[in-house]
Amino acid sequence: MSHCRIILDVDTGIDDAMAIIYALNAPEVELEAVTATYGNIDVASATRNTLQILEAGGRGDIPVASGAARSLTRPFSKRGSRIHGANGIGDVEMPAPAAQPVETWAPDFIIERVRANPGALTLVPVGPMTNVAHALMKAPDIAEKLKGIVLMGGTIWHPGVPGIPSPVADANFFNDPEAARIVLQSGADVTIVGMDVTMKTKLTAAMIAEIGEKGGGAARYAMQAAQFYLSAYQAQYPGIDYCALHDPLAVAVAHDPSIVTLEAMQVDVECVGELTRGQVIPDRRKTGTTVPNAKVALEVDAPRFETMFKAAMLAR
Ligand code: CA
Repeated sequence: MSHCRIILDVDTGIDDAMAIIYALNAPEVELEAVTATYGNIDVASATRNTLQILEAGGRGDIPVASGAARSLTRPFSKRGSRIHGANGIGDVEMPAPAAQPVETWAPDFIIERVRANPGALTLVPVGPMTNVAHALMKAPDIAEKLKGIVLMGGTIWHPGVPGIPSPVADANFFNDPEAARIVLQSGADVTIVGMDVTMKTKLTAAMIAEIGEKGGGAARYAMQAAQFYLSAYQAQYPGIDYCALHDPLAVAVAHDPSIVTLEAMQVDVECVGELTRGQVIPDRRKTGTTVPNAKVALEVDAPRFETMFKAAMLAR
């Protein structure tokens, strides 16, 4: 575990809100800036939700930049509402934000921050990779100026999630596979925290109740939203008694990779498949011609992460 300065790229989003709070409260993590994109909700709502969560957490001073409104090749599709509510945070009403986003467009903001802090920043995209792809296309030099990219997206073995047309993808890679490909082929030090691990990290009804009672202001809002999230999971997976901590796990791996087991692999993303758009295609043949371009999390110490998560949510 080491001191970790991060830029979080979000489509806030219920688990994004939890990732923001985790980044605010986890020891050793310094949240430098947040950039917002479309995904779970439209980009204007994601930006507003991000400002609201930061202000509820007492950190309205952290800059927020608004970014991409749609994927590189397709219009925005509002299919996340069933999981995240019509406003993106489980229809929880929060006070209107006092702060405004910075005027700089999120990809440009990423470029500025990374160039000003070479080797120091870890970028943690937990929505579609569109902002990051725009930044990398405009300024390919930032790939090696980043300490690394720890992204939430994709899956190798997990059978995928409901709510998107592809049976073999996660929502972030499905929403913009071309952007995900640009990130994976950028030359940056990329770590993939996908559903192979995130679906094993559980937020149970008991945890929601405890954090909702004892947590700080932002965590209480997030746990109200989590009730909606849990109900959405239960509607889609009969009998399930938890929802998954996708986005917070990526933040945790950024500062403490020892909570997951990583395998270096050559990975790409299917962009044109009729049935498989957004699928991660790993080439694990180890033939001597494969060149690993990402470290992929395959196992997670879920109990340890859940303890870390709860501690961050209860910090006030
Ligand atoms: Ca997200």
